[in-house]
Amino acid sequence: MWHTKGHGALVERLESAVLNKTISHAYIFYGSRHVGKMTCALDVARGLNCTHESEFACGECIQCSRIHNRLHADIRVISPRKSENKTSIGINDVRDILHVSHMKPYEGTYRVTIIDDADSMTLEASNALLKTLEEPADQNVFFLITSNEDALIPTIRSRCQSIYFSILDESTIRDYLTEYHSESDQQIELLTSLCAGKLGWAVDAINDTTLMEDRDKALELFWDLFHKELDRGFEISEYLSNEYYNNAQYVVDTLGYWNDLFRDLLILKKATSDLIHNIDVEDRLLDIVDSCYEYDLTDNIRFVLDAREQLQNNVIPRLCLDNLILKIKQKTI
Ligand SMILES: [Zn+2]
Repeated sequence: MWHTKGHGALVERLESAVLNKTISHAYIFYGSRHVGKMTCALDVARGLNCTHESEFACGECIQCSRIHNRLHADIRVISPRKSENKTSIGINDVRDILHVSHMKPYEGTYRVTIIDDADSMTLEASNALLKTLEEPADQNVFFLITSNEDALIPTIRSRCQSIYFSILDESTIRDYLTEYHSESDQQIELLTSLCAGKLGWAVDAINDTTLMEDRDKALELFWDLFHKELDRGFEISEYLSNEYYNNAQYVVDTLGYWNDLFRDLLILKKATSDLIHNIDVEDRLLDIVDSCYEYDLTDNIRFVLDAREQLQNNVIPRLCLDNLILKIKQKTI
């Protein structure tokens, strides 16, 4: 039983590798955040350890249940940690796991190591992992999860099978949210539209109200960028750069929401409103769309994407955000 939604072809391929015992020792799952890569890796971990050999991950045996509840000693998930203003996976985070990866599993038939945001491994951690991947031990499977496959060192990429996760179609998302959640039809429609193919985001938004609050705040800042003077723009820059030191992801997400709003404006300029994501603020977007030039919107999308990349490459946040606000303001006067 798969918990992964959609992704029919790759699910079929992995299920067949598990049932025929032809699983590789290392995979890279890459694609946008929130499209089901972690869920899929955990599904395969259950499939590999399930005691019902003819069935894929029965969901009822002790192995399936312990993995589902994150209690299984052989299934480890490594995630980046924040230290000294940098979020990364260092050598100390992988050392213990690599050490045991040459031993037999403790309680299951396969030891599965999942490295989330694997592109944030330091070079030292990457090289340590590489050594393990070069001498694969039996009954050990690695999953490296990333939204940026190119940031992994080439020698690691060459040792793994890469599997791409695309975004999901709207009907898969709508059907899942309707079946498993009790939100109103209107709310489900909004989440389906806003998540833009990333089911995990929609589910997170239901379970954690701060996500929608953060989006509301990003919208408020966006309208201010359009309607207020440059001074307010610099206040926004100061606010975001201070936030960056506490919660970098919040700022990266805010720029993501802005990018999506510029995208919607561009769509309203060129096509019908059926394709926009921010359907709850369509009227407000329509109010400003006539004052925007198509090429300015395209430029603004590029500026926001550049700024996100610079932040992730550790450019000084205030410098990067001041520069972004100036560029956007020049295009929105
Ligand atoms: Zn089972």
